[in-house]
Amino acid sequence: MAYDGPFTIEPKVSEFLSLDPAIFIDGDRVASEGSATLPVYDPSSGRVIADAVDATAGDVDRAVRSADAAFRDGRWRHMRPADRERILLKFADLVLEKGETFAQLETLEQGKSIAISRMFEVGASSEWMRYVAGLSTKISGRTFDTSLPGGPQHWTTYTRREAIGVVAGIAPWNFPILIALWKVMPALATGCSVVLKPSEVTPLTALLLAQTAIEAGVPAGVFNVVTGGGAVAGVALTNHPLIAKISFTGSTATGKAIGQTAISNMTRVTLELGGKNPAIVLKDADLATVIPGLMAGGFLNGGQVCAAASRVYVEAPLYDDLVGALTAAINGMTVGAGLDPAAQVNPLVSAAHQAKVLSYLDDAKAQGANIVSGAAVPEEGYFIQPTLVLEPGDNLKLTREEVFGPVLGITKVADAEEAVARANDSSLGLGASLWTRDLGSAMTLISRIEAGTVWVNSHVYIDPNMPFGGFKQSGIGRDFGIDWLDAYTELKSVCIAH
Ligand code: NAD
Repeated sequence: MAYDGPFTIEPKVSEFLSLDPAIFIDGDRVASEGSATLPVYDPSSGRVIADAVDATAGDVDRAVRSADAAFRDGRWRHMRPADRERILLKFADLVLEKGETFAQLETLEQGKSIAISRMFEVGASSEWMRYVAGLSTKISGRTFDTSLPGGPQHWTTYTRREAIGVVAGIAPWNFPILIALWKVMPALATGCSVVLKPSEVTPLTALLLAQTAIEAGVPAGVFNVVTGGGAVAGVALTNHPLIAKISFTGSTATGKAIGQTAISNMTRVTLELGGKNPAIVLKDADLATVIPGLMAGGFLNGGQVCAAASRVYVEAPLYDDLVGALTAAINGMTVGAGLDPAAQVNPLVSAAHQAKVLSYLDDAKAQGANIVSGAAVPEEGYFIQPTLVLEPGDNLKLTREEVFGPVLGITKVADAEEAVARANDSSLGLGASLWTRDLGSAMTLISRIEAGTVWVNSHVYIDPNMPFGGFKQSGIGRDFGIDWLDAYTELKSVCIAH
């Protein structure tokens, strides 16, 4: 298979696309035990650029057993933390070194702008990798005093954190490298082994990541990859008895199913799920800040961002100006394939996802919503026009459900009270933003917003040192931050009489 589009790609990318489909087990690309493959499409043309293995339950079993053997032999788990840290820092260096290959591959399979691939999938990834690598040498427990019976006997009591075992990392397709690393890196930093399953829509870069980890010095078997769909490979992985922890990022529906599996097996689980994220614009907000902020918050990566702004509640005096400025902005966006660095509107990830987003817009039209479409898009490829839906109404499907596309609903509200009530009227609670020049109002409202992250005068900024995760049905647990590795360890209490 190959890319035959109009842009020049690196020879290494062409070579990678032409490799036989494989999964990654025990430090190498290996063939599936089955023969099923999944086509990988270039979303800008709809043409197939590669085939990936659709892994069988037997493939998954092989990968998990390899990870389990690597965990048990202790080479990684019992390595000096400083050596693990050094290898993981090298891994980050190599991802940067191969950055253009990673970026082009990601843009080719995912559709996103090459600029975003370079900035986030490679640049931000390397920063997250270094942050987590550094945590390898910070794992610690506590000593504590107890009230156990004393006398001649003394007690020393403390906790230690121990690597949890084999981690199943299940990733979505919107930021395939970055989010895969949010699973793989904390697992590796604690001394766990990991089996990563990327989305069936974007399977390629995970395989290159695993190869790169080996080059950095991660022992064979510690980081395996199975590609394939959720129904077979995903289910086999999350149900496998040798999996100690599942780290899942994806939709709320899949997260609930995985959560139930995890509970029935007592597998530890972290769920990072969907969002329906409000942006509250108060009447004193500075539109010169709000407009670029909402354009990035709503349209970055085609709106295929879990924390993307999707419901804007604006106080009445600013409504007309805000709608006018956003309309001008979406009309001024340049459109093109992800490999065109100037194009701001790129295709969505797949034909199925394009159809899903269009179905929300069709429903809104049928319900009489006022739709403002931005820059025109080509027929070839999975493009969708950037779109505003004015006064969508609280019960419209696109107000209630995650659309995950370039669509912003804009609603006029009487005051901040109404804005907060409507913002909180959602089963999801991942992120939210407040736009105001009055920090006093912001400080009052922050505690009333039901979301895992509240941004003020910005939206969708994330940082390795700032915990991230959802309230309500947006998930369970937190990623990032100084305590991130806790979820990849078991806490053991030790009680010594002496
Ligand atoms: P998805 O739930 O369809 O798939 C995610 C992953 O789960 C894929 O690898 C898929 O193959 C696998 N999967 C599907 N069914 C499975 C099953 N029964 N058992 C095990 N694995 C299964 O999600 P998606 O469409 O790939 O990604 C988009 C979603 O991800 C959006 O809802 C978005 O909000 C969410 N997301 C959340 C965050 C966050 O940090 N909260 C970040 C990015 C994306």
